[in-house]
Amino acid sequence: MPEMLAAYAEVVGQDVITHLQQLARPLKGMKVVHVNSTRVGGGVAEILEKLVPLSNELGIDTRWEVISGNEDFYRCTKAMHNGLQGHRTPIADSLLKAYEEVNRKNAEQLRPQLEEADFVFIHDPQPAPLLGLCPNRRGRWVWRCHIDASRPYRPLWRYLRGHISPYDASIFSLPAFAQSLPHPEYIIAPSIDPLSEKNIDLDAAELDEVRRRFELDPDRPLILQVSRFDRFKDPVGVIEAHRLARKFVPGLQLVLAGGTATDDPEGDMVLQEVRQAAGDDPDIKILLLPPDAHRTINALQRASDIVIQKSTKEGFGLTVTEGLWKGKPVIGGDTGGIRLQVVNYHTGFLVRTPEGAALRIRYLLYRRDRMVEMGAKARQFVRENFLLTRHLREYLTLIVGLLHGAQYRIELA
Ligand code: UDP
Repeated sequence: MPEMLAAYAEVVGQDVITHLQQLARPLKGMKVVHVNSTRVGGGVAEILEKLVPLSNELGIDTRWEVISGNEDFYRCTKAMHNGLQGHRTPIADSLLKAYEEVNRKNAEQLRPQLEEADFVFIHDPQPAPLLGLCPNRRGRWVWRCHIDASRPYRPLWRYLRGHISPYDASIFSLPAFAQSLPHPEYIIAPSIDPLSEKNIDLDAAELDEVRRRFELDPDRPLILQVSRFDRFKDPVGVIEAHRLARKFVPGLQLVLAGGTATDDPEGDMVLQEVRQAAGDDPDIKILLLPPDAHRTINALQRASDIVIQKSTKEGFGLTVTEGLWKGKPVIGGDTGGIRLQVVNYHTGFLVRTPEGAALRIRYLLYRRDRMVEMGAKARQFVRENFLLTRHLREYLTLIVGLLHGAQYRIELA
């Protein structure tokens, strides 16, 4: 068996791989192209990084193309991202022109490949106009939305809808995000890659090294939230929860791990608020990690007793999946994609306030038996629902469905 498939079989079981091979057999040689706007950074790139080679191993000729833009283009698409998530900010016509112009330029290069592909997956709004720029396309085109589009800013959605309506289908991560469109809509949740640096098993020595590096005491309990310094992730609420829980759990340590403040002015502001809330408490560590610190994050997640993701709004929450996969119960905000992953009382607890989070932290740390039991369920839940292999299976099923509709029969070997 090819190398990657064999490695995944070890994690998910041979049945899952056999199922993928059965689905892929009639699609062999088919040309599939994925298009997004970045090769590195962000969940979409992380997913495509492995999804593309894996589908190639299954015999489907899969490519990954990245469109490139200019400053105005990225300003426009950032505003679109915010607008889809509900920010009510109009986008200037000049930026929309830049958006369309960049797509026109990219289409010049990509057109031959896209027009002859059997299947094209366009990820998020950035490359959405490409379909309209490939008039001689012969394949099926699918728009894949990774964003929480449950309450988009209406004028923006009316504009984007013009680009998206002509697609053959669209995919959203949760039913609540789906929009009214004149074509079939599919719900496919994102996934993590169990064999990536972020998720691969680590030995105890590596966890010890990370504890030493960040001066974490192995003999005292540790809770962790990994996330960008963003108000929707509620890092200040996590500090509040830590403070409340510590009254009952002396010595409780908290790590807030996030990216280094870049050009995001709001990120800087939130980081200041977080630093202020933490004061000079030696048991709260605020870590600014480089974007490629995947193994460090992996080790921190494994070294903690509980993973927290106290967001007040969350598209999916890959950090939740990552925590669950490491056998940790997750205490998560009762919102968006966290609700899909944190099954209350089974894989973790859903909370709405710092007080609620503190109560659950205290409960779990006093009931180690429950923590172990929930952690085991958490890992199993991710194994069954949120790994890359499930994600690819659903893409293949969608391809088969769109190509052959109800007449199709899979021939079992
Ligand atoms: N992440 C990271 N470094 C950081 C903060 C986050 O590598 O400093 C990773 C995190 O492990 C996860 C992803 O970035 O894989 C964040 O995805 P999520 O869906 O949780 O949130 P988003 O940032 O997309 O809102």
